[in-house]
Amino acid sequence: MRAIRRFTVRTVLPEAIAALGDLANNLRWSWHPPTRELFAAMDRKRWEAARHDPIALLGRFAPEELEAFAADPEFVARVEAARADLEAYLTEPRWYQKLSERTDGAVPSSIAYFSPEFGITAVLPQYSGGLGILAGDHLKSASDLGVPVIGVGLLYQYGYFKQSLTRDGWQHEDYPVLDPNELPISMLFEADGSPATVTLALAGGRTLVAHVWKAQVGRVPLLLLDSNHQANDEAARAVTDRLYGGSSEHRLHQELLLGVGGVRALRLWSRLTGAPAPDVYHTNEGHAGFLGLERISEIVTAERVSVDAALEQVRAATVFTTHTPVPAGIDRFGRDLVLAQFSGPGALPGLPVERVLELGAESYPGGDPAVFNMAVMGLRLAQRANGVSQLHGVVSRGMFVGLWPGFDPGEVPITSITNGVHAPTWVDPRMTELAEKYIGPAITEQARAWEQIEQVPAQDLWAVRRQLRSDLVDDARRRVRASWVKRGASPAELGWVDSVLDPDVLTIGFARRVPTYKRLTLMLRDPDRLRSLLLSPDRPIQLVIAGKSHPADETGKRLIQQLVHFADSADVRHRIVFLPNYDIAMAQVLYPGCDVWLNNPLRPFEACGTSGMKSALNGGLNLSILDGWWDEWYDGENGWAIPTADGVTDPDRRDDLEAAALYDLIEREVTPRFYTRDDDGLPHRWLAMVRHTFSSLGPKVLASRMVADYTRQLYVPASAAGHSVGKERAVELSKFKTRLRAGWPAVRVEHVDSSGVSAAPQVGDELTLRAVVALGSLAPSDVDVQVVHGRVSPSDTLTDTVVQSLAPVESVGDGRQVFEGTLRLRRTGPFGYTVRVLPAHEGFASPAELGLVTNA
Ligand SMILES: *Cc1c(COP(=O)(O)O)cnc(C)c1O
Repeated sequence: MRAIRRFTVRTVLPEAIAALGDLANNLRWSWHPPTRELFAAMDRKRWEAARHDPIALLGRFAPEELEAFAADPEFVARVEAARADLEAYLTEPRWYQKLSERTDGAVPSSIAYFSPEFGITAVLPQYSGGLGILAGDHLKSASDLGVPVIGVGLLYQYGYFKQSLTRDGWQHEDYPVLDPNELPISMLFEADGSPATVTLALAGGRTLVAHVWKAQVGRVPLLLLDSNHQANDEAARAVTDRLYGGSSEHRLHQELLLGVGGVRALRLWSRLTGAPAPDVYHTNEGHAGFLGLERISEIVTAERVSVDAALEQVRAATVFTTHTPVPAGIDRFGRDLVLAQFSGPGALPGLPVERVLELGAESYPGGDPAVFNMAVMGLRLAQRANGVSQLHGVVSRGMFVGLWPGFDPGEVPITSITNGVHAPTWVDPRMTELAEKYIGPAITEQARAWEQIEQVPAQDLWAVRRQLRSDLVDDARRRVRASWVKRGASPAELGWVDSVLDPDVLTIGFARRVPTYKRLTLMLRDPDRLRSLLLSPDRPIQLVIAGKSHPADETGKRLIQQLVHFADSADVRHRIVFLPNYDIAMAQVLYPGCDVWLNNPLRPFEACGTSGMKSALNGGLNLSILDGWWDEWYDGENGWAIPTADGVTDPDRRDDLEAAALYDLIEREVTPRFYTRDDDGLPHRWLAMVRHTFSSLGPKVLASRMVADYTRQLYVPASAAGHSVGKERAVELSKFKTRLRAGWPAVRVEHVDSSGVSAAPQVGDELTLRAVVALGSLAPSDVDVQVVHGRVSPSDTLTDTVVQSLAPVESVGDGRQVFEGTLRLRRTGPFGYTVRVLPAHEGFASPAELGLVTNA
């Protein structure tokens, strides 16, 4: 029989243990082992059956059983202690409150963080990969630091798919329906008890109504919009059905709900709770970019200013983070689709559709006029932007230089903040315990404490490492068995699974999504060579591999199948496993259990990568291509760099070369170090590298470092800029920009004279420069005339440049003006300079702000 309707009966907790409800509904339990232990101790079997989900666990107790807990004074006292601890965590002043004190309150009172996915815990499967996990770690660390972030996202009815394998190793996807009532979230209600909603107008006169749910992530609220509302037509109801699913129009509606709907949800939140409106809006990747359009519309409507003036206010307070150097990874829509949405009934009040189209136009050489580009719009709507590692910053500046014609890539105003990971989520509790035993609780609070890892005795460190490896082996055997049962094997055929993997063999992990650039199958390049590494009699390796392919990506699925076929071979299947359904729960056992974390992307397409950071924090050593974060922090001693064949254009040959280098490294460097034991049976040289990994990377790879960097480098300045660009200032700035754009074609460097340098210039000589600049209708104070000097190559390209402004000295009529300055020759060798003119305004965050420059 099938039910005609389903609903979830929520548990009612007796008064004495009612705080269990608060503890279950604040996701801090997901990174706080004592709270998890409190739940687990209620009934370990049921805790396992409930997959470590406190809400599901509580639902498994009958009312009498709960009454029994409430009558147990010891248990009640434990609940009370946990509640008090949570209360202290939520209210005590933390890093941000001290920062606020030191700066006399010159910090934002609220920062909205928009992301299409959030990976917080396996219990709330609202993520597909790195971007979502990073967003989850961002919120958790913001909570730990007391940074007043509020998250904004979507609630997907199906979450991301569960992966399994067919008999033939082909990826199969299941989309289990999530019932919001069974998730650790709560719906927002109006004071009169009716559900609070936000409404959007869609093209063609349709409407989209969304519920708003809230997840509580420690101190940070996360608002999630959900289109599953009875007032919607069927298609509108399905807008938030699944992550990145469906047609272009479906994605447009998702992003509309996230961006435009997200701002409306924030206003709703302020109205219901009295929370301040955000001072800063952070767009985590292009998907959420429409938030800027809604804010322009709000300002135009409320302040009766022009779109340009509103744009200035929006830009000042917006931060945009780009996450991918893969052009195909950039989010783009057909221009017609955007045109249809933002004209007619779907138009945003006060914002003409032409202005919307302009913001996302690829108006640079090589751009496609039929396309609306969300990343480009993100950059135009944000005064501050960043990539997610230093190398990715360089690549992004090159990738988007077309938006700043006339500027060198180095001057493109996209900075970088390297990603980090949330240690309490990703460090195995046994590793944390070990560190705390010798270093004290500082290890979880102070980044620098990681540097003291030397104090942990080798014996203990190795014992914990073995324990973690052995747990992974157990977990992998369980998963391999379950997978084979699903693939149609009978338990009788599966005896061999009990000897899959070995808790004393060097374990190499590789887990990530399966886009082509990550090269899942590089290790299979020479199968015989791999086989001999796996089966080496004295120095074997074992490989644990996982990863999901995008459901629509046949190529990725084929790669998985190739790998599975290899791993199925009877001669190697005890040394190499593919574990289906990579997710947070698997990751939390996998990273700690691997001795070596392998990453072999095609450089430079890995924007940052974070799994290797999680491995490092558990004492794993990275073996990786110098891409993303590893390019920045590999120091020769904290792991291994796989040499890249950059510049080899034949992709097959490049793969051959890089795979060969990988096999060589494993054979000559990695395995000898792991298997060489001293008299006490310990691999001391290996452990020295583990220690060095902890001390060199520990302080850097933390999400708390990342969130502190965002706060100081981007949030605080954006908040200040947002406040200083009030209505009048924004009007003035937008008029300035219009005037400069109009007058700029007349600007020219007419003539440059230098004096003071002899025929044989020496270090210390001074050079006086005099430049005549035609300004047309512009005033000298509208511009910055600069001399850019530095080393010069044989082809006259300047490098290592220094920029110095020249001062206006006299007008020579006809809108022409003389600028002058002196520069000192500080270095020997070839030297060159050039003169250029830029617009200048104190409201600019970068000299490239307007994208205008005239070079001599
Ligand atoms: C950390 C993590 C990722 C991202 O790892 P990358 O190294 O960036 O590929 C993906 N999925 C899960 C489950 C993770 O924990």
